[in-house]
Amino acid sequence: MSDNRFFPKTDAIGVIPTHDRTAWLKGGEHCCVMPPRPPLGKPWRIVLLGAPGVGKGTQAERLCERLGACHLSTGDIFRAAKKNGESGLSPAMQSALEFMRRGELVPDQTVLDMIRERLRCLNCSGGFLLDGFPRTVAQAKVLETLLEDHHVQLTAVFNYELPLDKIIARIAGRRTCSVCKVVYHLDTLPPRVAGLCDRCGGKLVLREDDRPEAVEVRMAAYQAAARPLINFYLQRHLLVNISAEGTPEEIYKRTRLSLLAR
Ligand code: AMP
Repeated sequence: MSDNRFFPKTDAIGVIPTHDRTAWLKGGEHCCVMPPRPPLGKPWRIVLLGAPGVGKGTQAERLCERLGACHLSTGDIFRAAKKNGESGLSPAMQSALEFMRRGELVPDQTVLDMIRERLRCLNCSGGFLLDGFPRTVAQAKVLETLLEDHHVQLTAVFNYELPLDKIIARIAGRRTCSVCKVVYHLDTLPPRVAGLCDRCGGKLVLREDDRPEAVEVRMAAYQAAARPLINFYLQRHLLVNISAEGTPEEIYKRTRLSLLAR
């Protein structure tokens, strides 16, 4: 089968900024102002697994533009809350941000409460790419129940794999747009103008939790939780392992081939 259907027109960094994530980032009664983009063929409901720095966010951006699905990152919810100022935050969110600052996982209960406030996004006709959730088997079990309750099925769980030394090198060179959150890499995906986002001109920054001391804690947290989570989805015949070696476009091509097989 031709796979051209996964290549709509893109800008220089391979993404089109068309997704409205208001409901996801703000939760509660907030709704997306723009309707979801019509999904490609069917609503794709995909979970992305992989250590921090493996490139899930970059793949999610590409996949969501091609598939019409929305990029739902739990880390982005915390970062958005932090950006909006901590004075108006609930005590649970303030404590969650403390965990994040140290590079530790936020307690399951807090994350799950946040997800329950955003059930509409999991049920959205546009589909979703979950990035950073679930992170533990307890979270995966709750997600499974929530989806079953809404008669929604996961299409696949993509597990991006990369050796530890390469992950650490990737995180060290990663820069994120402080405005639109697009991710660059100083070596493999540099912006056209140093320090500035190609898409919106925003300043590129090193994320607070990408600092070396936080990265070590994050990697330890990931490794402790990853294996049971991988086994959980293996048992459900949803797991697809994808090598995260090479450039974002090479990884994307592997991902696309796996999608065509679903
Ligand atoms: P990420 O951008 O996915 O790497 O997330 C950044 C940080 O947010 C993590 O290091 C955790 O502190 C927190 N976080 C995001 N998602 C979760 C989750 N599903 N469970 C626990 N903590 C999370």
